[in-house]
Amino acid sequence: MNYEGLIIRPPSEADSLILQVTVGCSHNRCTFCPAYKQKQFRIKSEKDIRCDIEQAARMYGDEVRRVFLCDGDPLIMPQERLIEVLNLLHQTFPKLQRIGIYGNAKSILRKSIEELAALRQKKLGIIYMGLESGDPVVLDKVQKGVVPEQMIEAARRVREATIKLNVTVLLGLGGRERSRIHAQETMRVLNKMQPNHVAALTLMVVPGTPLYEQEQRGEFALPDKFELLAELRTMIAESALDNCLFFSNHASNYFPVQARLPRDKDKIIRALDAVIASRDERCLRSEFMRAL
Ligand code: SF4
Repeated sequence: MNYEGLIIRPPSEADSLILQVTVGCSHNRCTFCPAYKQKQFRIKSEKDIRCDIEQAARMYGDEVRRVFLCDGDPLIMPQERLIEVLNLLHQTFPKLQRIGIYGNAKSILRKSIEELAALRQKKLGIIYMGLESGDPVVLDKVQKGVVPEQMIEAARRVREATIKLNVTVLLGLGGRERSRIHAQETMRVLNKMQPNHVAALTLMVVPGTPLYEQEQRGEFALPDKFELLAELRTMIAESALDNCLFFSNHASNYFPVQARLPRDKDKIIRALDAVIASRDERCLRSEFMRAL
């Protein structure tokens, strides 16, 4: 497979064939994100994509059941190009069950519900979307490029097209200054989005990003470990999610949580309260074990 640069995929796509159909991220301006800063965004040529699919067929035969499309934002591809890729995957892998994709709110909003439903027909089963924060002040500061209402509308379209929606949020993104508001507003927006899955990651300020420069200048301060857990606690306490899998077990997190909400809400709040009250760092993942 002809992968260009660092390839990133969600943990839940570990068993999928990873197919790079775009290089980089069409937005690429978020101040906290180190992922694609070295890459100039482009859609790969039809020939290159076809070549990769043929090579995957030689390597895995017809055993491929799941495919994940990357880099940052392949949903931005024009509808006809994306349909061509999905058709080719179907022809090549007859046992294909589900295709997953990264898509930001802007690229979702470029598609109508009918277009999304057409992708669903071709087995596009899940979209991974970054909300990061529901606080409009935070979204503006980190240059996410969209406002909460656009996130909510994007989620509505995905749900109407019966595609599963996995939404990522970032603990700590509001800094100490807006820690509580960030947590409250994030859950307020998630409650309106009603995603199938929420993944809460913990912000790691990476050298080379604009946010790192802001931190160095004293313009941004990350909440401490227990303040980050308090954000998680606020989010869960204020959740009104309907049958949602909520994860904070990514390697960046200090305290792993995996819950079915609303069922596990009280249990998780009790566990978080106990750790926050103890301020015992032995209950937390060590810095050594944390990673993006
Ligand atoms: S967070 Fe997502 S949308 Fe923002 S630059 Fe990174 S990949 Fe692109």
